[in-house]
Amino acid sequence: GIKAMTTNVGVILKDVLDMKIEELPGGVPQPEADQVCLSMGPVGICGSDVHYWQCGRIGDFIVKDPMVLGHESAGTVCAVGSDVKHLKVGDRVAVEPGYPCHTCSACLGGRYNLCPDMKFCATPPIDGSLCQFYCHKAAFCFKLPDHVSLDEGALLEPLSVAVHACERGKLSFGQKVLVCGAGPIGLVNMMVAKAGGATVTITDISESRLAKAKEMGADATFHVTSRDSRETADDIVKVSGFSDLTIECTGVEASIGAGLWATKPGGSYVQVGYGKAEVNFPIVAVGIREIDIYGIFRYANCYPKALALVASGAVDVKGLITHRFPLKDALQAFELTKAGTGVKVIIDCDK
Ligand code: NAD
Repeated sequence: GIKAMTTNVGVILKDVLDMKIEELPGGVPQPEADQVCLSMGPVGICGSDVHYWQCGRIGDFIVKDPMVLGHESAGTVCAVGSDVKHLKVGDRVAVEPGYPCHTCSACLGGRYNLCPDMKFCATPPIDGSLCQFYCHKAAFCFKLPDHVSLDEGALLEPLSVAVHACERGKLSFGQKVLVCGAGPIGLVNMMVAKAGGATVTITDISESRLAKAKEMGADATFHVTSRDSRETADDIVKVSGFSDLTIECTGVEASIGAGLWATKPGGSYVQVGYGKAEVNFPIVAVGIREIDIYGIFRYANCYPKALALVASGAVDVKGLITHRFPLKDALQAFELTKAGTGVKVIIDCDK
């Protein structure tokens, strides 16, 4: 059919700093029994894609063999495996990029994001979805209602990180939430917190990112200029008061300290940002204030909730997209993301 005549071009990381846009070795893949093959649409670039390209590793995940990049994606079903019941050719789906083993204690306990055998797109050695045709477990493909776009489907990935962060932090109505960092992850956390009835103050060192946050609904923005975390926190508190819940989305030491110092006694603090592996932070203040600190690793069972938030109109993620490129110009898209220009950069695999 049509597929047999089509090539499968993708963005493949051959080695550190060596990214190529070329025909993938396997050509157009055939779905296994529990998979669907997708004709890929938009794929967002994540900081981790850029990091693998620039450094070849994130922590213990090391790129040893060529790997297709990309994991924030949506596409249209073009072939269905024999066991797949809930999807058919032509369905538009969002791709939850990681599938776990379903048998370990983490999986059985519902926290499948902690599965040691997780297979996650564009986390080595697993190929990502930044290509024209891509096969994925059907159970991890979520059918989009007609009024939800493929762009929104792709953005369910970062949105799910925020759903998970807000749930871990026990977000509740009327809370004051402080989001540290106004990158894509800070912005989705802001949006989910707002949808959950919170008032949100968001910080950044970049005025343009704060302007974007304001445009996307921040109740207050705070421009961080000091490297002293206590001083930053005092200034934040002067403007917004102490936060019930702080969601740290930079991983930067000074921001971690500021976020903790700005959290009220009895409040919660969620560490979403990943920076240096070890940092100094005010642990005595955490003790004296009985602050609950939560770690976050991606998400589990969050795609349906993220989709519901978008489908109902409770969050509008479309505004995150500032740039888009056809697949052939993917390198430009990566350069732009690396430079920190804009917010979310999309590559259209069908263009
Ligand atoms: P990003 O780099 O685009 O955004 C980070 C923002 O923090 C930038 O706008 C930067 O200007 C700002 N910043 C830097 N120093 C600051 C300071 N001292 N105070 C306030 N703001 C400061 O990154 P992103 O894509 O938005 O991701 C944010 C973080 O979330 C990254 O560390 C990433 O690794 C992490 N992340 C974690 C998970 C998870 O599962 N826990 C998932 C996705 C991303």
